[in-house]
Amino acid sequence: MAAIPNKIQTWQMVQPTVFNKETKETTPGKLERTEIPVPELAPGEVLVEVAGCGVCHTDLGYFYDGVPTVSKPPLTLGHEISGTVIAGDDTWIGKEVIIPAVMPCRKCILCKTGRGNRCLNQKMPGNSIGIYGGFSSHVPVPSIDLCEVKDRGDIPLSHLAVVADAATTPYQAAKRADLQPGDNVVVIGITGGVGQYMGQLASALGAKTVVGIARNKEKLERALKFGADFVINSTDKDAKAVSKEFRAICKENGLPNTGWKIFEVTGAKPAQEIALTLLGFVGKLIVVGFGMAKVEYAIGRLMAFDAEVIGTWGCLPEYYPIVLDMVLNGRINIEEFVETRPMSSIADTFAEAHKVPPMKRIVLTPDF
Ligand SMILES: [Zn+2]
Ligand SMILES: [Zn+2]
Repeated sequence: MAAIPNKIQTWQMVQPTVFNKETKETTPGKLERTEIPVPELAPGEVLVEVAGCGVCHTDLGYFYDGVPTVSKPPLTLGHEISGTVIAGDDTWIGKEVIIPAVMPCRKCILCKTGRGNRCLNQKMPGNSIGIYGGFSSHVPVPSIDLCEVKDRGDIPLSHLAVVADAATTPYQAAKRADLQPGDNVVVIGITGGVGQYMGQLASALGAKTVVGIARNKEKLERALKFGADFVINSTDKDAKAVSKEFRAICKENGLPNTGWKIFEVTGAKPAQEIALTLLGFVGKLIVVGFGMAKVEYAIGRLMAFDAEVIGTWGCLPEYYPIVLDMVLNGRINIEEFVETRPMSSIADTFAEAHKVPPMKRIVLTPDF
């Protein structure tokens, strides 16, 4: 059993990147290696020794793009965490766990009515549990929502960090879409950190057809091996051109024009425009990606099409064991989509991932 440390070693975001609108000057953000206290654990809390923490687009948003964290800096980022419980709640000690990225309060009306994934009092490591986050040696978290890892075979515990966020968000999205076996699905942004799991998950849940849309040729080819039946490269194409290609695929393969469930995972304006253009009769558009762009749409079409646009946020902790099972029994592949690096590479890794989205999800492993 690992010893309880005196201090938590961590990579703290001392300050995010600041862009001054008046002077147009950018002050670079700062990540610093430091020590923080091990908090007194309240009943129902545990201390997790971190095995790995994934670098999510959301972390980059906090560090580079002015997205505010709930707990003000300095704080440690990182919410895609796997590890081993070493202190706190007796029943959990020694267990390997995945920490859900979003932990509902379990008390409010949203929690009581099954909508706890969007609980307004939810706790998220690396955002709203004080100074604590996953890019650390240890992290204190509530135990109620932990997902226990058993029989993981050859899959390293660090790799399973992606189940905490990237692989579970699509499950919630599929639930919101009421995804059923036999459904026809489009995933816009199928090459991204979350998108690749959206495609795999839709396929694993029995979708008849998965059409993936994105811009990276190499990653689109990979998507064809993992979930996608068809892909459309949207590079230099507007929504109309993509729609034309989509209709051609439908026609050639005897696929219907109606009832498609479209998952928009990027949050980028051109992708949202594609999604709205593809949305047809009795279709559903599920908005999985976040962005600030405004898109024009004749909303009356929803009436004419009897169609729906649905937002989705995070994933209920109760779904985590289902997704973990799908990963452990091979219905969702994570090994082809994960790369680990030492946590001390955090500054370079952030810079690199911010510049070009990486081929694989980068999981940082503690090397303090
Ligand atoms: Zn995330
Ligand atoms: Zn709540």
